[in-house]
Amino acid sequence: MTAYRESGRTVVLIPAAFTPAEERRWVAQMVAKLQTREERRRRSLGGDDDLMARARALSLAHLDGVPEPASVRWVDNQQRRWGSCTPADRSIRLSSRLRAMPEYVVDYVLVHELAHLVEPSHSTAFWALVARYPRAERARGFLEGIEQASGEPAGRPEGDAVD
Ligand SMILES: [Zn+2]
Repeated sequence: MTAYRESGRTVVLIPAAFTPAEERRWVAQMVAKLQTREERRRRSLGGDDDLMARARALSLAHLDGVPEPASVRWVDNQQRRWGSCTPADRSIRLSSRLRAMPEYVVDYVLVHELAHLVEPSHSTAFWALVARYPRAERARGFLEGIEQASGEPAGRPEGDAVD
């Protein structure tokens, strides 16, 4: 049996042979399990300190530790951008909308903003850096899907203050 979220709905897969009583019991258990898992994930993404630690780890893992952000934090006021970076003070901000998304997508946005500390513009050199994160293409596809589903203009850069 599995349970997952899809387009804001909870989908629980159970054997067809279940009685209605069994079905109710299992659905309740699976939903509770899903909530626990999501809660744990929210905690693991955690606060700004956790985000900073994650950014440092990603910098070391994929960018030779060259980008050294001075601050990395969640912000609630970025509805139309996933992340932003100010190279002058080496600060990175991530939209809290990303908290609801898979971790590889959050990591991609972090890598993207970290790469801007090295290459401020979306140059060829910039994209070569970003491509060192193995799931970059997949994450960009995921974000494009969200943007299209929410009716935002297609084709705009995936969003930061340094576009
Ligand atoms: Zn960018």
